[in-house]
Amino acid sequence: MIPAVLPTYNRAPLTFVRGEGSWLVEADGRRFLDLGAGIAVNALGHAHPALVAALTAQAQRLWHVSNLYRIPEQEALAEALVGASFADTVFFTNSGTEAAELAIKMARRHWHAKGEDRDEIVTFEGAFHGRSTGAIAAAGSEKMVKGFGPLMPGFVHVPWGDHERLRNAVGPRTAAVMVEPIQGEGGIRALPDACLKGLRDLCDATGALLILDEVQCGMGRTGRLFAHEWAGIAPDIMMVAKGIGGGFPLGAVLATERAAQGMTAGSHGSTYGGNPLACAVGLAVMRIVAEPAFLDEVKRKSVLLRQKLEGLVAARPEVFEEVRGTGLILGLKCRAANADVVQAGYAEAVLTVPAADNVVRILPPLTITEEEIAEAVARLDRAAAAVQADAAA
Ligand SMILES: *Cc1c(COP(=O)(O)O)cnc(C)c1O
Repeated sequence: MIPAVLPTYNRAPLTFVRGEGSWLVEADGRRFLDLGAGIAVNALGHAHPALVAALTAQAQRLWHVSNLYRIPEQEALAEALVGASFADTVFFTNSGTEAAELAIKMARRHWHAKGEDRDEIVTFEGAFHGRSTGAIAAAGSEKMVKGFGPLMPGFVHVPWGDHERLRNAVGPRTAAVMVEPIQGEGGIRALPDACLKGLRDLCDATGALLILDEVQCGMGRTGRLFAHEWAGIAPDIMMVAKGIGGGFPLGAVLATERAAQGMTAGSHGSTYGGNPLACAVGLAVMRIVAEPAFLDEVKRKSVLLRQKLEGLVAARPEVFEEVRGTGLILGLKCRAANADVVQAGYAEAVLTVPAADNVVRILPPLTITEEEIAEAVARLDRAAAAVQADAAA
């Protein structure tokens, strides 16, 4: 018999009933160190006092009004994002998938408004942009699209790292190129800064818009507010979600005025997108995460975590191959099965997240402490020892 909850997830038999900072408390009382953070969502950990205060204060005032009216919390968050980024304008969504949908629509509409016939969007193998019909067509992975056709046309998929194929794919029909600066689901595969610069140049040369998907790697996770800042370039359109709400459902599309020129009144909308509750929380997240001192701390702690993970890989070469990623979006490329490492972590009360390419993702709250980093790596080492012992048995 089908369960009451549609069985689309492979769930671990863990039930968390409370969260405090980097820790999740299981129903049986065990305390788990959370290196997954809801897949890069709980950027400030669990039950951060500033977020609890912002949410409860807004909850007592006003939860929802329609976008038929002005929403001051939405305007304040949009201004904060515009002030801290390349963008001139922001549309709020409730998720990363919805942000992907708008990014696609915005890019096509841009060319429509200019009277040019450009509707193709170039995307990359291993990408993940969400699970809507548009987003699965964009990523194009066999596993995600199987049985859901006919797919939305207009996407051109290029192998990761194949510069020749990329150059051939971008031409006069290309509306935009869409890419994650660091592929999350794809296995913490980072676009080198030089490649991101090259991609910007290619877009400039051909007129194509550059859409960056920073849903997983953005909002301070790399030690800069947005990952593309490291490469010294700016996109035309950017999707964010996950960390921006710190656990409250919130996403956004940021864009330049030029890229957004087709998006006139009535061209897009959302009932919940940009509601007062979500934006009050988002503003509280921004006030903390966009602070240079906070980002410096992320950088400092990420160096420490990376050093310790490099040590772990060196100590357990049967289990791990290499450390990937930057900041606090890291991956352990495994020699053992990544699922076994994640599983062994559960037994040691440390939470990690599997990704494609046999990678275990390490995405702790950005507020993780030095002591917690040391404890996390000690637990990962015990988990790896158990995987190794099992393999030997
Ligand atoms: C999670 C994710 C999405 C989809 O976001 P949802 O909030 O799950 O809809 C899109 N792009 C990237 C890079 C992601 O990591």
